[in-house]
Amino acid sequence: MSKKNEVIKFPMNLIMPIKDFLEDEMVKMKVTKKKINQADPFSDESRSLNNSVEEDLDEQLGHFDAQIKSRFVDRQIIQIRKALARIKIGKYGICEECGEMIDTERLAIKPETTVCVKCKKESEK
Ligand SMILES: [Zn+2]
Repeated sequence: MSKKNEVIKFPMNLIMPIKDFLEDEMVKMKVTKKKINQADPFSDESRSLNNSVEEDLDEQLGHFDAQIKSRFVDRQIIQIRKALARIKIGKYGICEECGEMIDTERLAIKPETTVCVKCKKESEK
C-alpha cells in the first residue's frame, strides 16, 4: 500500500486560531459591507432626483466606488466561508484544485485561501 494519498491534516492547535481569525474576519467583512452600502448615494432614498450635473456626477462616482468595494468584500466573504467550510471537513490547507498541501507561508499571508500558488496562477491565465 502506498502512503502517497494519505491526507496530511493540519494540527488542531494550529487550526483553531485560524478558524477564530477567519470568523473574526467574516464579522468585520459583514460590517464593512453594511458601511459600503450605506455610503452608496443610490441607497439614500431621500436623495434628490433633480440634482445639478455636478451633484449627479458625485452620486454616480460614489455609487461606482461603492459597487467596486462591495464586490471585493463579497468575494472576501465567499472566500472566508469556503476556508471555514474546509476547516469543517478537515481539508484546510489542502488545495481544492490539485489536492496538494498549500504552502504554509501562503496560508500565513492569506489564511482564507483554498488553492495553492500554482493553481491560483493557472486560474489567472
Ligand atoms: Zn493546487
